Amino acid sequence: MRCILFGPPGAGKGTQANLLSTFFKIPHLSTGEILRLKQNDNDNLSKILKEIMSSGKLVSDDVLNKIVSEKLLTAECSEGFILDGYPRTSNQLYHLESFLKNNNFSLNFVLNIKLSDKVVERRIIHRSKTENREDDNIEVIRTRIKTYNFETRPISEYYREKYQNIFFEIDGEQEIAKIQSDILKILKK
Ligand code: AMP
Repeated sequence: MRCILFGPPGAGKGTQANLLSTFFKIPHLSTGEILRLKQNDNDNLSKILKEIMSSGKLVSDDVLNKIVSEKLLTAECSEGFILDGYPRTSNQLYHLESFLKNNNFSLNFVLNIKLSDKVVERRIIHRSKTENREDDNIEVIRTRIKTYNFETRPISEYYREKYQNIFFEIDGEQEIAKIQSDILKILKK
């Protein structure tokens, strides 16, 4: 099963993707998580990543496209994957579309977890206290919400139009368990 998960920061994509990954036994590819791990490398790239990510802005498309295409070709992803946090820009969208086409991979589901900016802010402020993420303070949160609305929402809209029969929307303001059961209902169809 090949699946893309969209949703603003704080929508619970990571939590839901982890649960789905366990349920369907396919890897959860979180680009945010991969980049956070890369920050530990102590090389030039790690310094750049720290600076960009702590500001709430996006890391360059070239870095992301390379990371994702390499990952998707590994044996780990041969039965499918759950993409969380990618594609986020039109450049990444075009890259992914041509990558999937060239490798004869087709998508099975595109899920869009929806919630209002207000709830996003509230959730991230709460998360900043429990997870201690550097990019979870109020100013950075607002930049991340803006970046999401400006760069990434149009990408999910592209999928809504182009992939109407595999595109599903989920109410992200519900309890985690209810979001999870809504998603499972869709995936088991
Ligand atoms: P996330 O955990 O998905 O919220 O990502 C955390 C941060 O990693 C983002 O605010 C970006 O700085 C960076 N990031 C993650 N995925 C991408 C992507 N696809 N394109 C550019 N930057 C990304």
